[in-house]
Amino acid sequence: MPYPTQPTASHFINGAYVEDTAGVEIPVIYPATGAQIAVVHEATPAIIEHAITSAKAAQKAWAAISGTERGRILRRAADMIRERNYDLSVLETYDTGKPMSETLYVDATSGADALEYFGGLAGSLTGEHIQLGEDWVYTRREALGLCVGIGAWNYPTQIACWKGAPALACGNAMIFKPSETTPLCALKVAEILHEAGLPAGLYNVIQGTGAVGAPLVTDPRVDKVSLTGSVPTGRKVYAAAAEGIKHVTMELGGKSPLIIFDDANLEDAVGGAILANFYSSGQVCSNGTRVFVQKGIKDAFLKRLQDRLNEAKIGNPMDEATNFGPMVSERQLSIVQSYIVRGEAEGARLVCGGKRIERDGYFLEPTVFADVTDDMTIAREEIFGPVMAVLDFDTEEEAITRANETEFGLSAGVFTSDLTRGHRVIAQMEAGSCFINSYNDAPVEAPFGGSKNSGVGRENSKAAIEHYSQMKSVYVRMGAVDAPF
Ligand code: NDP
Repeated sequence: MPYPTQPTASHFINGAYVEDTAGVEIPVIYPATGAQIAVVHEATPAIIEHAITSAKAAQKAWAAISGTERGRILRRAADMIRERNYDLSVLETYDTGKPMSETLYVDATSGADALEYFGGLAGSLTGEHIQLGEDWVYTRREALGLCVGIGAWNYPTQIACWKGAPALACGNAMIFKPSETTPLCALKVAEILHEAGLPAGLYNVIQGTGAVGAPLVTDPRVDKVSLTGSVPTGRKVYAAAAEGIKHVTMELGGKSPLIIFDDANLEDAVGGAILANFYSSGQVCSNGTRVFVQKGIKDAFLKRLQDRLNEAKIGNPMDEATNFGPMVSERQLSIVQSYIVRGEAEGARLVCGGKRIERDGYFLEPTVFADVTDDMTIAREEIFGPVMAVLDFDTEEEAITRANETEFGLSAGVFTSDLTRGHRVIAQMEAGSCFINSYNDAPVEAPFGGSKNSGVGRENSKAAIEHYSQMKSVYVRMGAVDAPF
C-alpha cells in the first residue's frame, strides 16, 4: 500500500538516508488492516557506529554557534512540519492506526509546537554572574553532548520532537531510536530538520528493537538517555545508564486516578473520562484509567457514559469522521484482551464493550468495567488499551488515599464544582501531570512527566532545559592568590 510520504531507507544518519540490508527485517504493519506497508532493517553494529561517530563529530560546532542561530533552524523546521501536516498525519496514521481526526490535530502539530517553543528559548539560555566582593563567579549553561532518545509506539512523531527539540536547542546532538512497531515517523522528522538547515549528524534516526537501544545506552560516548516506555524497560535502561553515570529522563507508564465528585458537571466529567480512557484507543501513558466516582453521581455517570460511547465512530482511520481506531498491533490487542478476561474473572461488572471487532486490523470495543475494587488486576496494572475501570467512593479523604495507593505517579485528575476542593485534592495527588476539570492536555509550555515509578525528569517547558544542559561555574580571582605555603 504505497503512500506519498514513505521514507526511502531505514535510517537517517549524517544528513542522509542510509540502508544496510544486513540488518534483520522489521515489517511495518498498518494496524487498521494488518497489511504490511513497509519494511525497515534493524541497525547493524556498523550503522550504530556511523550514527555515533557522525553525531560526535557534529556536536561541538553546533554547541558553539549562538542559541539564536540554533533556534532559527528549529523554528524553520516547525513551520515546515505545519505546512506538511496533512502528509505527516497520514504517515502517523499508517504507523500507529490512530484516526486522522486525531493525527491531523495532535501529532505533527505538537511536534511543531516543541520545535517552535524550544527554538524560541534557545537564544535566551544563559548562565549567571555572582559577585563575591572583588572576585566573582560566572556560570555557563553548556550542552551535555550526545543524547540518545528512545521512543514508545503511541506518539512516534511527537516523541521524536519532544526529545529532539530541547536537546538541539541546548546544543546537543541526538540519536533517536523509535519503537520497532512505529519506525516511520521519526525519519520524516530527521529529514525535515535537515531540510530546515540542521547540520548533518545532529539528529540521527536508527531502527531496531531494544537490542539496538541497549548498546546506545551503554556506549561511553553517550552522555544522556531519554526514554519513553514502560516501567520494566525504564528500570533496565535507568540501571544501564547508571553504570556510566549518565543523565536520564524517564517517561514511563501510569495507572492514573480520575476522581469525579457528586457536584461535578456531569457532561464535562463524562467527557473528561472519555478523553482519559479512549483517545488513541486508550494507548496514552497519562490516561486516567482508575475512575473514582462518588456514589451519588455513579448511576447518572455510567448511563451518560454509555450513551456517549454509543456515538463513537469506529472504523477506517483514514475517514476523518472516524474517532476511534484500532490498537497498534495484534500483540497489544491480545494483552488488552487478557486484561478484560481477568477483569471479568475477578468479579468486575462489564458495563459495555469487551470484544474484538469483527473486521480486519486490531480493533477492540471501548470497554467499561464498573464495581471495580482496588485489589483487582485491572485497577492495579497499566493496561494501555481502551479499558476504563470505574470504582465507587464515599468521602474525599477516602478517594485521595485510594488514588495514591499505586506504584505509579504520572497523572491525576479531579472533576468538581468546588474549586477549593479541586485544588486541595490535586495538591495531595502523588503525580506529576495533573488536571482540574479537564484531562490529558499536554501543552508544550507545561512540564510533563511522572513521579514515583512513572519516571524522573520532565519534558516540555523551561524545566526540560535543565535536563538537556549542565552548568559550569567559573571562579574568577581579581587579586593575589593567598596560599598557606
Ligand atoms: P517499551 O517499554 O516496551 O519500549 C519503549 C522503547 O524502549 C522501545 O523503543 C523499545 O524498543 C525500547 N527498549 C526496550 N528494551 C530496551 C533496552 N533494554 N534498552 C534500550 N531500549 C529498549 O514501551 P512500549 O513501546 O510498549 O510503549 C508503551 C509504554 O510506554 C507504556 O508503558 C506507556 O505508559 C509508556 N509511555 C510513557 C509515556 C510518558 O511520557 N510517560 C508516553 C507514552 C508511552 P522496541 O519496543 O522496539 O523493542
